[in-house]
Amino acid sequence: MIPILKFIQALAIVGTCVIVGFAQPSIRDYRRAHERQILDEFTRFLAIPNVASDRENIRRNAQFIVEMMERRGLNPQLLEAKTRDVPPAVFGEWKAPGATHAIVLYAHYDGQPVDPKQWTASPPFQPTWRSAAMEAGGTIVKLPGDGEFNPTLDRSPSNRKPGVEAIVTLPPAGEINPEWRLYARSAADDKAGVIAILTAFDALRAQGTSPLLNIKFLFEGEEEAGSPHLGEIIDLHKDLLESDAWIICDGPVHQSGRKEVVFGVRGDQNVDVTVYGARRPLHSGHYGNWAPNPAMLLARLLATMKDDSGRVTIAGWYDGVEPLGEAERGAIAEAPAYDDELRSQLGLGRTEGNGKSLLELINQPSLNINGISSGDVGALARNVIPTTATAVLDLRLVKGNDHQRQVERLIDHIRRQGFFVIDHDPTDAERKEHALIVKVIARSGGYNAERTRMDLPISIAVIAAVQSTSKAPIVKLPTSGGSLPLAIITDHLHTVTMTVPIANYDNNQHAENENLRLQNLWDGIETWAAVMTIKPKI
Ligand SMILES: [Zn+2]
Repeated sequence: MIPILKFIQALAIVGTCVIVGFAQPSIRDYRRAHERQILDEFTRFLAIPNVASDRENIRRNAQFIVEMMERRGLNPQLLEAKTRDVPPAVFGEWKAPGATHAIVLYAHYDGQPVDPKQWTASPPFQPTWRSAAMEAGGTIVKLPGDGEFNPTLDRSPSNRKPGVEAIVTLPPAGEINPEWRLYARSAADDKAGVIAILTAFDALRAQGTSPLLNIKFLFEGEEEAGSPHLGEIIDLHKDLLESDAWIICDGPVHQSGRKEVVFGVRGDQNVDVTVYGARRPLHSGHYGNWAPNPAMLLARLLATMKDDSGRVTIAGWYDGVEPLGEAERGAIAEAPAYDDELRSQLGLGRTEGNGKSLLELINQPSLNINGISSGDVGALARNVIPTTATAVLDLRLVKGNDHQRQVERLIDHIRRQGFFVIDHDPTDAERKEHALIVKVIARSGGYNAERTRMDLPISIAVIAAVQSTSKAPIVKLPTSGGSLPLAIITDHLHTVTMTVPIANYDNNQHAENENLRLQNLWDGIETWAAVMTIKPKI
């Protein structure tokens, strides 16, 4: 009897284990069962205007996140800056029993300014579903029961609650097509990040999974404005925000659609360069050949800054660049070759860099002309010699460059071309004394690049976590071509940063008709659930 009893007991235990194992939903199962709920929360969030300078609405966004986190028991708090009345960050924490290490998961809830006239898909803060990207012929999704009237949002008064703009009418889970696109400002950049992170938390908790590190959540409200107060917020709340790494959810995955981990961002510095001609506009017939033309002078000056292959010819431009390590060079070599496809998509007959790939070249500092202005063109064109010519230069920087030093190199180069360099409009005396005058203004807000080594234990753990959610090899990039002020984080805290993006590459971020492909959100939830359960050998 006793052995039989034991056998039955053993069976029962095995059975229980099997049932528990079976009952534990995967992250994907959880998502499938909660699609409507996730999208309801997401679209209500997107309906709140979120330009950082719109102080009233930006606080409503922060409050919406606070409520999302309160519902989850994450004890949210608003982290204010020292400067009054600026967008707060929202903080919360998921503590791991006995853990002494922590990671900060970061996304931002503010978005770029909008010009509603340019939003041809749908208004920026009226989240709207389309069957595919508008450029690919995607049409507004006809939802069941909506007949011809088919806004994604039901704005009927009976559905209106204070602070709630939108009630979503979506089909049941299973009928929501993952190729649908959600159109709204910040659908991709970066409210998708907030939703992916908080939903990943929901799915893990539903599984009964606990993290192995303390998980801290930090949602910033001023990133698109250049994070001018993030340093203050960090300094005032250092104890809360100290961690082994900040992992950023922002930006698009690789153009090939593969998942991606990015270990750096480029620095950025804008510079205004203005060259002067006569004090007033001159008739080009009466004065041409005699009065110098500032547009011509500026064009000649700019042409001295790069050679035919696109290499910057300013002395010292590439000095101090930290070379890539073995892991970084290997990652670039393994990344999918996508340049030919891009060249054909973009209609480029040639590219710069003497045959080097895009991924290699974004690891070098660059010099770009954002725009040039002098006189008028088109219908306003007149036969004049303009008084000034201005270019806005965009200096992208990599690890090892200092943004102020790079501006000094630019100014030294301009001087070597014979120009008298000033930081104001020229006085009469200066005009008399100098043949060539240029005003050079380095704009405020420039910052340096940031890059984390790919062979650190935390880097290896994040790569493994993201890879575990994808059959295709993930793309690992030493740096993004774009810029984020991540140096603000590492200047104020002893930590490292890396970025795990989720959005589709064709999301129109920063522009009109921003959109998120739904499958990217679904994939992103799985990616971030894996990131939250990393176990690095710290
Ligand atoms: Zn962003």
